[in-house]
Amino acid sequence: MNRSESVIVIGSGVAGMATAIRLKQAGFDVLVIESNSYPGGKLSSVQLGDYRFDAGPSLFTLPNLVDELFQLCNKKRAEYFNYERLDILCNYFFDDGKAVTAHSDINRFADELATQCGEPKLNTLNYLKESKRVYDITEPVFLKRSLHKIDTYFQSATLKAIPQLPSLHMFETMASYNKRFFKSTYATQLFNRYATYNGSDPYRAPATLNLIPHLEYHLGAYLPVGGMISITQSLYQLATDIGVRFAFDERVLSIRIASQSVKGVYTTKGSYTADIIVSNMDIYPTYHKLMPEQSKPSRILNQPRSGSALIFYWGINAAFSSLDVHNIFFSADYEKEFGSMSRNNTICDDPTVYVNITSKKCKGDAPKGKENWFVLINTPPNTGQDWDQLIQKTRMNVLNKLSRLLKRAIEPLIEVESILDPRSIELKTSSYQGALYGSSSNNRMAAFFRHKNFSSDIRGLYFCGGSVHPGGGIPLCLMGAAITASLIEQEHIL
Ligand SMILES: Cc1cc2nc3c(=O)[nH]c(=O)nc-3n(C[C@H](O)[C@H](O)[C@H](O)COP(=O)(O)OP(=O)(O)OC[C@H]3O[C@@H](n4cnc5c(N)ncnc54)[C@H](O)[C@@H]3O)c2cc1C
Repeated sequence: MNRSESVIVIGSGVAGMATAIRLKQAGFDVLVIESNSYPGGKLSSVQLGDYRFDAGPSLFTLPNLVDELFQLCNKKRAEYFNYERLDILCNYFFDDGKAVTAHSDINRFADELATQCGEPKLNTLNYLKESKRVYDITEPVFLKRSLHKIDTYFQSATLKAIPQLPSLHMFETMASYNKRFFKSTYATQLFNRYATYNGSDPYRAPATLNLIPHLEYHLGAYLPVGGMISITQSLYQLATDIGVRFAFDERVLSIRIASQSVKGVYTTKGSYTADIIVSNMDIYPTYHKLMPEQSKPSRILNQPRSGSALIFYWGINAAFSSLDVHNIFFSADYEKEFGSMSRNNTICDDPTVYVNITSKKCKGDAPKGKENWFVLINTPPNTGQDWDQLIQKTRMNVLNKLSRLLKRAIEPLIEVESILDPRSIELKTSSYQGALYGSSSNNRMAAFFRHKNFSSDIRGLYFCGGSVHPGGGIPLCLMGAAITASLIEQEHIL
């Protein structure tokens, strides 16, 4: 099938590439324009001497959403992209020295929580069962369809879900639900952590988000062969193989609009005409920078942003047998930590520290006997804090905490170092305030406060990516790409 319309996708983030692949496969002529010299946006890679690091995302769930793109193009996924399911989801270190291993086998994990923390096994198993129930109701309605098209509300999945909405724990916070559910404070803190999977605060986010552990414990956590960067590399390869064109080092400066229809874009290198434009750029700068003259949905655009992050990439001249791919070193007072972020807009002195080590599985990521540590601390979004001072203070606090809990001085082991902070995340990806996941999910109505995947005012203008429906994180970006592409197909059939 050959469609006459041409599509420009602004940005080669994971959602931009997935949308481009779907549209090309549907017969459109597709050009992706990317301001960076490389594809992937947040899903990119950093090389420091002999150490390789994934720059942003480290946790990969729902790999079937990537597989689907290869199937759609009749390509053998394994020729492009491979991944393994992790047996250990995460090693947890509590501040008092207690350690818990989260096995992917839920019976083993429930036994571990019972032995280490005194949490009754049945509590853990029932919690995960409920997590699955909430996910199964939510997914077909809130994640797989546009919430802004009337036909969504007449689908059988929606009609089935509506009577069940009161049972999705929307009127309670994650933290209060978990505190009520679990006997042990260790289990409560461990499950509160899942709020951070979309940059939210467990003390404010609705308990509906307790659906997140279902993804890891039932559907699995995975690591791509070659690291997370393989997702970007394989999608880029697939896209180019099927004929999607890419223009790198070229920034879109404005969207050309006439008679309330898109006409093309102006870029740093010239101008292009197009019948359809999909912006994978964050929705806030899409309105404010690319079409400042157009009226703006201010209430939606001004929603608070999700959390951001401070990341230290450290090449470590040692190997730690107590660590695995994913490791968490919890703060002593989780509520205080999130209070510092949401009320005081800062990082507390005892932050929770996440250490991701891909070299545990991807041997080429660090020299033999050494490890590539991606050390992440959750932060508020960038609203002009004194980041240089915060980074200096936090680096010290993190080093002290890791050295104490691992019983070994860490600073002398650091061979190479680089730092990413909310300012540089914004600079590298145009993500408003450096938010990792677009607008915040702390509000129980957050799903309805995200921008839709299309413009109602401008014909031919669509949106995809973490700042629009259904939200951020690789899986949601991929689901969103499917929604956006299918709206375009429906609305532009020749
Ligand atoms: C530190 C960090 C950790 C994370 N951890 C996880 C995780 O473990 N698991 C997970 O699932 N998710 C995680 N995320 C979130 C995940 O990375 C994002 O939700 C997802 O990658 C966003 O993809 P996107 O398609 O919205 O585009 P982005 O990655 O935001 O890319 C947008 C692209 O558009 C380009 N662009 C912007 N403006 C223009 C313009 N005017 N002209 C041309 N190009 C433009 C940018 O250069 C960029 O390449 C993390 C993110 C970060 C930063």
